Amino acid sequence: MNDIERNLHNIQTSIPKEVTLVAVSKTKPISDLMTAYKAGQRIFGENKIQEMAEKWENMPKDINWHMIGHVQTNKVKYMAPFVNLIHAVDSYKLLKEIDKQAKKHNRVIDCLLQVKIAEEESKFGLYTEDIINLLDSEELKNLTNISIKGLMGMATFTNNQQQIKAEFEKIAVLFRTLKPKYPYLETLSIGMSGDYKTAIDCGSTMVRIGSSIFGARNYG
Ligand SMILES: *Cc1c(COP(=O)(O)O)cnc(C)c1O
Repeated sequence: MNDIERNLHNIQTSIPKEVTLVAVSKTKPISDLMTAYKAGQRIFGENKIQEMAEKWENMPKDINWHMIGHVQTNKVKYMAPFVNLIHAVDSYKLLKEIDKQAKKHNRVIDCLLQVKIAEEESKFGLYTEDIINLLDSEELKNLTNISIKGLMGMATFTNNQQQIKAEFEKIAVLFRTLKPKYPYLETLSIGMSGDYKTAIDCGSTMVRIGSSIFGARNYG
């Protein structure tokens, strides 16, 4: 077994089977993704649309591609033919564009709403009131080619585990509060390499793990 196979195996066996593992392969070459693919991994996460589209074109077609990064409206068209889940949707405007592009390909694209849970100003996302307003809005009913499946969050970039836990608890409480009224919310996407165990303890149903599988990224 090489490092990628071993890391993947260790993570797959350490998370509960009802938690979905997204292998975050951004910046990594196709050969690394193929190693994970051959070991059985079928869900890959990327944060740049162009890079994801190139990998999609050159890799087996039974892969589920997740866009985990911030999405610019004008780039949605490049992933509309194939993307399976868009994690970081943070505006009605973006949803509308995803719906429009999905229609052209006769598809329904699954989306998660990004919740702002980190203290940092730089983090994208919606506040609780925005989420509720969006889910209750009449306009949303016109968007027949998107399907909102849940919530996504990113904790503050810190070593303070208490703070990370508090932020994950916050989104988990919101998720559990909304679920009875909006039963189509089935996915809670929280947890990365450094904090996925905490996220799972808080109720994560989907973890996005990159460096712990593929090794550190080199942005050179
Ligand atoms: C890069 C990235 C990850 C994975 O990060 P690792 O720490 O390498 O596991 C998860 N989620 C998002 C949104 C990312 O951009």
